Amino acid sequence: MSPPDRESPLSIRLRGVVKRYGPITAVDGLDLDVPEGTCVGLLGPNGAGKSTTMKMLTAQAIADEGEIEVLGYDLPGESKQARAECGVVPQLDNLDTTLTVEQNLVVFAHLYRVPRSERRDAVERAIGVANLSERRHAKVDELSGGMRRRMLIARALVHRPRLLLLDEPTVGLDPQVRQELWALIDAMRAEGVSILMSTHYIEEAARLADSVTIMSHGKAVASGRPSELVTEHAGRDAVEVYGPPAKLAEAEGSALAAGFRTRRTGTSVAVLGLHAANGDAAPEGERRPANLEDVFVLLTGEEIS
Ligand code: ATP
Repeated sequence: MSPPDRESPLSIRLRGVVKRYGPITAVDGLDLDVPEGTCVGLLGPNGAGKSTTMKMLTAQAIADEGEIEVLGYDLPGESKQARAECGVVPQLDNLDTTLTVEQNLVVFAHLYRVPRSERRDAVERAIGVANLSERRHAKVDELSGGMRRRMLIARALVHRPRLLLLDEPTVGLDPQVRQELWALIDAMRAEGVSILMSTHYIEEAARLADSVTIMSHGKAVASGRPSELVTEHAGRDAVEVYGPPAKLAEAEGSALAAGFRTRRTGTSVAVLGLHAANGDAAPEGERRPANLEDVFVLLTGEEIS
């Protein structure tokens, strides 16, 4: 067993990773880097391979090909060591509902071998992080959905992991609760914890992630800082054309003919790439800054769910 490379600037390193389920190739030659101390967002439509990627990082799924390193440990061979230094927030809530908030955290402190003398402080800290002091004696099934999510994150932090793996951390939550969780995740990053977060909420990735990898059909189709991806793929500005379907079809046709890129957004057509094409030929419409959602749709061909 090789010792972990403490000098390594990467918390996660994937090269050429492939995972097949029978005839389905869920992950198809994925390269991914999470530099230490940064938050990386894994963005993609349903079925893109995000959850499979997260599962390989915790050795719940074993890659068929490629290399996976987590905190300097090679997976799957050294997955136990890697797991011990990772905090994992699963997509499905698997809290023990028969136990209280505090009891759940104590159980995890044991499981993650937090030394006895440090356990009390570790549990208190986690309760504080999740802002659940007043509910510490409540059974988990008495908590709201948002509190349970905060609790899941707190549980993942109880042993002070260097890396946090978040699988769709705010799925199904209302916008206010989502923002509370964003603040919590951002605070962890500020403390130097490395974070890989899968999400299909574009805003979540745009706000929290230092860098984003967009996945489609098991492959990374783009990686970089959100603002750089926007400039590279969608340009600085977009023009939004509204109107009845016939007008939209016409606007789309002439924009494509003039060399612009376009995307449908329900009741409108967004015309993109104004910087690259002949700006004079831009259609009449509402100008707005291009955004990560434009890039996502251009590269994956999928609307936002
Ligand atoms: P979502 O956003 O819907 O969770 P995802 O990006 O996480 O999607 P995955 O769950 O990784 O995507 O799925 C990628 C592909 O692999 C899909 O076609 C899925 O049906 C398939 N898949 C995932 N897990 C299994 C499994 N255990 N057995 C068979 N096929 C699977």
